[in-house]
Amino acid sequence: MTAAREARIQPRDDLRSLEGYHSPQVDVRVRLNTNESPYAPPAEFVQRYTDALRDVAWHRYPDRGARDLRDALGASLGQPAERLLCANGSNEILQTLLLTYGGAGRRAAIFEPTYALHAHIAEITNTEIVTGDRQFDFTVDADAAATLVRNTRPSLVFLCSPNNPTGTVEPRETVERLLAVVAEIGALLVVDEAYGEFAPWSALELVRDDQPLVVVRTYSKVWSLAAVRLGYAVAPTWVIDELDKVLLPYALSVPTQLAGTIALDFQSEMEKRVSALVEERGRIFAALTELSGLAVVPSGANFLLVRVNGDAHDLWRRLLERGVLVRDFSSRPGVEGCFRITVGSPEENDEFLAAISAALPEVVR
Ligand code: PMP
Repeated sequence: MTAAREARIQPRDDLRSLEGYHSPQVDVRVRLNTNESPYAPPAEFVQRYTDALRDVAWHRYPDRGARDLRDALGASLGQPAERLLCANGSNEILQTLLLTYGGAGRRAAIFEPTYALHAHIAEITNTEIVTGDRQFDFTVDADAAATLVRNTRPSLVFLCSPNNPTGTVEPRETVERLLAVVAEIGALLVVDEAYGEFAPWSALELVRDDQPLVVVRTYSKVWSLAAVRLGYAVAPTWVIDELDKVLLPYALSVPTQLAGTIALDFQSEMEKRVSALVEERGRIFAALTELSGLAVVPSGANFLLVRVNGDAHDLWRRLLERGVLVRDFSSRPGVEGCFRITVGSPEENDEFLAAISAALPEVVR
């Protein structure tokens, strides 16, 4: 028994200390911790989708090129299908990027605090991470970033905009500046726009075949389809061709491709939801700003980062006791003392605001 345990295969040395992804899935009344849409997809979408599923040729593999989905998505984005790659969530797109352009002996630059999966997948793919710090207002200092990239020569530069967990939108000048530096050293700029639809501008308009730029997006938020797992990259054709070799064949199931295609017929419903969430974001921002002991970070996403002048973890726990789950970042480097709240439905947001108004005086210094 002991001998068997000693002989047990271990993961790669560099993965021994890897931690899993921690975002508790707790069953509570008001769940505002994972930046999902509070709204189910339109009933008519569900009807059309389930009707389409009845006609699927289940004994056949899916279309490997996801042609219908990429054609429809390309038409809605004003990009040719050849500049699109679809995968199981934008996390799989990020993983495919790192598998293709990262790996042993290569580097990826990230600007902390940012989305934890960029560093996590870099570690899994044995890609060295170089880290730049965001400024006090959580934007990236373009000069410092350009110097970092020139000095460390990463293969990939990740820029999350709007940034998770801060909500910060990078100005167009920063993206253009980094794009120029990345072009100069022969690297790739990856703008993670998982929340791009909630922001005032998008790097999508900069994607061209002669620019080393990849924009990553998802159906998990705006399209109310987190359950489906569908994300995509918009990139020059020469990048898409390489990524396509690395993504597993038939990676994208027929149900996933159908959901993504049919969803695009509900563009105006989705735009209405985006407007409603942006409005609610403003309402929560204003209400929290009124409370003493909190500082709210301006956001271009469907969430807000809030700094607590007091014990933020204790506040998180007290909100949970009142049936409201937010994301606890109280001990995360760079956002210590903070929590993140996803914009929910007006009713959920009211519950959150009532809970925090009651709990805050118990923790504020
Ligand atoms: N990028 C960012 C910045 C995110 O916050 C998320 C979701 N938490 C993702 C990518 C991954 O989204 P998905 O895999 O659901 O498309």
